[in-house]
Amino acid sequence: MRFQKIPDWQPGYLNACPRHVDIRVTCLSCGIEKDFDRDALPWQLHHAIIEDIEQRLKCECGEKRAKLLFGHLMPD
Ligand SMILES: [Zn+2]
Repeated sequence: MRFQKIPDWQPGYLNACPRHVDIRVTCLSCGIEKDFDRDALPWQLHHAIIEDIEQRLKCECGEKRAKLLFGHLMPD
């Protein structure tokens, strides 16, 4: 599978992101990119602004420079 990002789009609030949109999280420090599971977030964050969520996500490299990517996972 490869991830096709929707160019120049993000929903603003997480709950405004349709369920058919796949979310990935990338770290601006180390560049790692992973699937993002919105259901794993604390419920308080389910209606949060995307920027607020990004600020709370800590990467395994220790940095808090997460960026959420919105798009679709496509078969290769
Ligand atoms: Zn990182």
